[in-house]
Order: sequence, then structure tokens, then C-alpha cells
Amino acid sequence: MNIAVFSTYSYDEEFLTQHNTGHNLTFFKLPLNLQTANLVQGFTAVCVFVNDTVNAEVLSAIKQHGVRLIVLRCAGFNNVDIKAADALGIPVLRVPAYSPEAVAEHTVALMLTLNRKTHKAYNRVREGNFSLERLLGFNLHNRKVGIIGTGNIGKAVCNILNGFGCNIYAYDVYPDAALEALGVTYAPLEDVLRDADVVSLHCPLMEGTRHLINAETLKLFKPGAMLINTSRGGLINTPDVIEALKDRQLGYLGLDVYEQEGSLFFQDLSEDVIQDDLIMRLISFPNVLITSHQGFFTREALEQIATTTFANVDAFAAQQELVNRVVV
Ligand code: NAD
Repeated sequence: MNIAVFSTYSYDEEFLTQHNTGHNLTFFKLPLNLQTANLVQGFTAVCVFVNDTVNAEVLSAIKQHGVRLIVLRCAGFNNVDIKAADALGIPVLRVPAYSPEAVAEHTVALMLTLNRKTHKAYNRVREGNFSLERLLGFNLHNRKVGIIGTGNIGKAVCNILNGFGCNIYAYDVYPDAALEALGVTYAPLEDVLRDADVVSLHCPLMEGTRHLINAETLKLFKPGAMLINTSRGGLINTPDVIEALKDRQLGYLGLDVYEQEGSLFFQDLSEDVIQDDLIMRLISFPNVLITSHQGFFTREALEQIATTTFANVDAFAAQQELVNRVVV
């Protein structure tokens, strides 16, 4: 099949080329959106990632150009209008799970770095500053950690933190019996937010979870608590979180995702004037750590993404059951 691959960087090209099962791949650095939809002429499938815009308008444009399949190189599908794709008869296939440990380990890295300030210590020592002033942290052992969403990634975070000796509380619409057996306590969302020293978000972004963390829910947090989000930026109302940081209601914030990340993340903007005042305000806090959506970025995860993406394309080409189809 002729596949147009959008939003590609060197690593996408490397891993997709290595695991290609015989398709013609054309790599576009540009994201898919209404302005770039014309590029898909002559392609049967498009392959997209987290910040491509696949709304009803884009879907209708690419359908007119002959596209019959969308393959996502990710698990989340909040950037695709699934109902519109269904109505046009375009199946949307995703990579439901690829090394959840990759994202879970990055989540814990954010917790540990924010807590023990290793990023600051690294810079200090390089400048000959061996002082411990302002590097004081806390033990994760015996701390209460609240996990919101205990699917593949949330569960992997629970398993790691269980090894640290944390008291793990969780909220999910579907509690997991294996985690309960491990000692994880499920409780209503409000209780988890109220009791936890560290809250980590791992539920999907949907209408019901958009701005789950907002001025009201932030009031429930323990003063000085840590909030980590490696799921999707839209789970957090950013201006409300900035206010909570200014009030010191929130003690630490670790983000791998950001609601407006589409125009920033994955790009080197070091010589540009960044126009997004919210992210610049966030960066200015000493207790905020932001990484640019790199939770998935391990060799193992990229291999699984490539392998599953081609398994999805092959199943479509062979008219087999589409096990990874996103359904509404
Ligand atoms: P998953 O589908 O395995 O798990 C999601 C869990 O959230 C499920 O257990 C589900 O029952 C639960 N859930 C649904 N609605 C909820 C609600 N309202 N409140 C609480 N829980 C709810 O997904 P996953 O693979 O664990 O991925 C979790 C998130 O991480 C996704 O949003 C995905 O987009 C994101 N993600 C981020 C990266 C990254 O690089 N940072 C990489 C992969 C995935």
C-alpha cells in the first residue's frame, strides 16, 4: 500500500523503515491538517501521530483524495474525529499498548527529579557549587500516591511505586482486581485527590475528563502536593494550575504533555520567540519540570509501535479482522 506518514522525525523513519512489511512509505515532516491534506493524493493510507489534526474537515478532504485507512502511531486518539471517520467508512487503527513501562518509567523519573532536584544538582555541581541548600526532598517510601486511571500505564506506575513502598490509592471507572490484590486501594476521585502527596494522571482525554484538574479540584489537593501528567495535556486547565502554583497550593508540577503542545513539542524552537505565554509562565516556576512528550520515547516502544502499525496495515490489506480499530 502507498502510505503517507506525517509528522515524521529521523527516529520515525528509522524504525518504520526497519519494520516495514513491504509497503511504499513517503515521509512528510509536516503534520496532517487542513493545509497539508492535499499531500495525500495517490495514497491509500495515512499514518499519523499525537499532534496531527484529523477532524471532520480533514477527514472529508483526505477521503476525496482516495484515502481508505488511518493508522495511528500511538494509543490515544483524541485528535481524530472517530464518528466522522466511521461515517466516511475510513477505519482508524491504533497501537493500543506499546511498552506501557516506557511511559511509566518516565512518569516516575519526573516524580524523582522534581522531588530530589537532580536536574538542579547536575547544573550546580558542573559550576563547582556543592551546596545542598534548597535541594531537600522527601522519601517516597510510605507516601500516599494517587493514580488516576489504572489501565496499561497506570498499572505499570503502580507496580513501580509498590516497589518503592508507597501507599497507592487509585481512581478508575473499572477497578483492577490484580492491583487490589497488590494492595492498591480504590477510592472516589475526590478522596484520592484529597489524600495523596503525589497525584499522577493516566486516564484518557475524553469529554468527561477534559480539565479534570481545574480550580475546583485543585482546592481538594493537599497543600504542597505534587501533580504529574504524562497522559494528555487537556486533562489539566493550565491557567488554574498556574494560579495553584502561585498560591503554593500545588508544590510541584511535572508535565510530559501540554494542552497546546501541538505548536511547540517535537520542534527545536531555541532560536524562536515563543508566543505561548502560558508555557513560558509554567517554565518560570522553580518547582515545575516539563518534558516534551517523550514518555513513549524508548527503543522498545518505537519497535512495538512500528511492528503493530504494520500489523494493522497488513490486516486491512488482507481484509482480516481489524483488532486495533478504534470504535466509539
Ligand atoms: P488504557 O486505555 O490502558 O488505560 C486508561 C484507563 O483509564 C482505563 O483503565 C480506563 O478505565 C480509565 N479511565 C477511563 N475514563 C476514566 C475516568 N473518567 N477517570 C479515571 N479513569 C478513567 O490507556 P494507557 O495505555 O494506560 O494510556 C493512558 C494515557 O496515556 C492515554 O491518555 C494516552 O494518550 C497517554 N499516553 C501518553 C504517552 C506519552 O508519551 N506521554 C504515551 C502513551 C500513552
